[in-house]
Amino acid sequence: MLLVSCCVALMLLPQPRAVDSFAPLRAAMVTDQIQRRGVADPRVLDAMRTVPRHRFVPATLQHLAYTDRPLPIGLDQTISQPFIVAYMSEALGAERTHNVLEIGTGSGYQAAVLAHLARVVYTIEIVPELARRAAATLKDLGFTSVHVREGDGYAGWPEQAPFDRIMVTAAPERIPQPLIDQLRAGGRMVIPVGSAEQWLTVVEKTAAGVIERRTIPVRFVPFRRGRG
Ligand code: SAH
Repeated sequence: MLLVSCCVALMLLPQPRAVDSFAPLRAAMVTDQIQRRGVADPRVLDAMRTVPRHRFVPATLQHLAYTDRPLPIGLDQTISQPFIVAYMSEALGAERTHNVLEIGTGSGYQAAVLAHLARVVYTIEIVPELARRAAATLKDLGFTSVHVREGDGYAGWPEQAPFDRIMVTAAPERIPQPLIDQLRAGGRMVIPVGSAEQWLTVVEKTAAGVIERRTIPVRFVPFRRGRG
């Protein structure tokens, strides 16, 4: 009888939070790959230190989650190199009050990082299975401010426009006009542009017009077009 009540009492005790054995690797990723290459925004660094990247890669590749490279996530797609995620997040300059649109959900990792920086994140993925998986991972991890939609991101997400910030993580040859249209005045978009040669481009919508600035050369999967 005593034994039984002991067990019950133990079960009622609050359970300690699962220890994240990847935390030291994640901290090293931030110092060695991200800060060392010049990303300095403390909010971005904090997000990169917090989001469990290993949960967004296939189980068989978890041991590589914090290495300095992109990784395959199945269906011919990849999760970007950690440095690129941090660099693009810093370039985006999302603030706590902002709504953000992401095109190319992939694993959902970049969306999770953006969720740490902004008020709400809308993200669109053209491969149905990836959209479903990313939504499940984000739900599992408790990211309630990220909304995943399956579809062609070319058309943006008109019902939620205008957006303070837009991030595109697949490369079109030209910037889709609907995305420029859905950017709020004063807003900013970060997008890789090109095919064989791609440049990460920052687009600012100012009173004087739309200004584009090339930053670093990058290599993203092509921006696909859906039916219609
Ligand atoms: N941001 C992702 C990585 C991007 S990989 C992450 O954090 O894991 C690029 C993704 O863009 C791929 O999943 C690809 O299927 C998707 N994609 C390509 N063209 C698209 C389009 N037109 N609309 C929406 N998603 C697209």
